[in-house]
Amino acid sequence: MPLNAALLFLLQNLGHGKRSVMVSVKQMLRWENTVLPILLEEKLLVEAELAKSLPCKCVEKDCLMSVVSSDLCDEVTGKVVGATSFGICGKSHSFIGILTEFEQHYLKQWQLTNEMLIAWLTKYLRLEPPKEANRAGVIQIGTATLDGESYALALGSAEELVLLVNGDAVPMAKIFQVSEGGAIEVVTDLIEAHKSQKVIDIEPTSPKKSTSAKRQVRKEETQKLHAAWQKEYKKLRQQYPNKSKYSNSWIAIQIAKLPIAQGLHKDTIRKNMVL
Ligand SMILES: [Zn+2]
Repeated sequence: MPLNAALLFLLQNLGHGKRSVMVSVKQMLRWENTVLPILLEEKLLVEAELAKSLPCKCVEKDCLMSVVSSDLCDEVTGKVVGATSFGICGKSHSFIGILTEFEQHYLKQWQLTNEMLIAWLTKYLRLEPPKEANRAGVIQIGTATLDGESYALALGSAEELVLLVNGDAVPMAKIFQVSEGGAIEVVTDLIEAHKSQKVIDIEPTSPKKSTSAKRQVRKEETQKLHAAWQKEYKKLRQQYPNKSKYSNSWIAIQIAKLPIAQGLHKDTIRKNMVL
């Protein structure tokens, strides 16, 4: 698994109210060799406490044994020279034995916390401390300044982990990318897109403006249509001046047959063809 896939795994496993995601040795072994050192270097992973349980060696299905570790001391000096771990069956609670070196290796795990992610983003985006207080499921990250405009960033973790840009949610998994050179980057364009979108959205007059603009366009189109009917009416009335023989209704029927009628009813045409 390359770096971008590993990052995606981490980000997709955060959220839903969780504060951190754990990576087991089993998971980590699926990653390319270079991934763990990069994530540790970037402080997007840190070595966590040893796991407290492992699959049990007993015959019970899906049993987990609790692992109890204790320091191994030198008999003479009393100094700590290492550690040893014991397994206790989760179902029978009987002693299983001292874990092998291989099993002890499998107790290792790493974690990424929301705080680590925030620290990384703060550094990368050179954020200023947040002005707002945290709310339920929302951690304020800070204020970013781009092109002289500032906008608030927050972490939403109630459901999928999201970056809130002025309150607009962008999935965290989309924010991060790995450059061709293998460096972890933030898709600032994506953040900026949401920033500018929000600036338009929060402008209270803009939705009304756009609706009234649409209405204005429709009004002008109708006026043009009526003007075309009025022109045609004048032409036909000159050709057929006898009003008792060729009524306005008759002329409306003639206009209704033309393309300028645009499929509208003869009565609609009759009402609008005379100024
Ligand atoms: Zn067991």
